[in-house]
Amino acid sequence: MSLSRRCFLAASATSAASAQTKPYAGRTMVVVTAHADDFTIFAGGTIAKLIDEGYAAHLIRITNDEKDSHNLGPGETSHRNTVEMRLAADIIGIKEIQSLDFRNDELDPVSETEIRARLILLFRKWKPYTLFTFDPSAKYEENPDHKKTARAAEDAAWTSGVHLFLQEHFTLGLQPWAVLDRYYWARSPEGHDVNQVVDITNHIDRKINSIQAHKTMMMHTAVQLKAKLARTGLRLPLLDTLNEENVNKLVDIQTRERAAAVGSKHNMKYAEHFHYIPVLGEGSYVQRNAVPLK
Ligand SMILES: [Zn+2]
Repeated sequence: MSLSRRCFLAASATSAASAQTKPYAGRTMVVVTAHADDFTIFAGGTIAKLIDEGYAAHLIRITNDEKDSHNLGPGETSHRNTVEMRLAADIIGIKEIQSLDFRNDELDPVSETEIRARLILLFRKWKPYTLFTFDPSAKYEENPDHKKTARAAEDAAWTSGVHLFLQEHFTLGLQPWAVLDRYYWARSPEGHDVNQVVDITNHIDRKINSIQAHKTMMMHTAVQLKAKLARTGLRLPLLDTLNEENVNKLVDIQTRERAAAVGSKHNMKYAEHFHYIPVLGEGSYVQRNAVPLK
């Protein structure tokens, strides 16, 4: 066997192995999060897993997170939450972050069309195959930033592919680009809302570490929880001393418990669940008859 033939075989074996471990090489996802910690809490395990399997990921944060701390002013709060979001994104493996920096919990006067326009520009730039965001139809969502983010992202996913929206983008060399599939996360999805369960057993530690990276937000959550319990005459012994170590423990316990509860219904140790919208309708004429382009 000639040397070049051996090299060719070795190269084929390597690319076959890489196709097995990186089935999504070349694909891009965009994660649209209202706040710094949403994507880690709701989808951190799945995003990390897909990145390991070849996806390149970009993150868009809609707000500036200026209100999520228990003892800092708005400027310092926003700064710390932004720095900690970068750390969390690094743990998950997300490359680039763009923050739109709309004021936290003040989105009401901002039109959905404006947020959508900001998203369309980035979708056309990054050409995401996959979108991760909040479920715009989530029943028990109470956070106004989550709701508006979900609607604007869903809208941008298809309008970015239409040439009559924001035509000035094309003078910059951008092209229309519609998102292909979508993973929607929700606070308490019910029944048929969940049609995609992802085994994150091998990614649970990274998910937990990424949530713990949001130190300011997690401490705020713990402080609020302790105060709420106290008002009802209760205490959580773990939070008797409010420090980073105990807050991290609480994050670890709660994240494992939630992922285990989802996983136990599907024979998995730890899982995350989504409403998934595929490229083609399941069992549709198009899905049954589409053939490879080349
Ligand atoms: Zn949030």
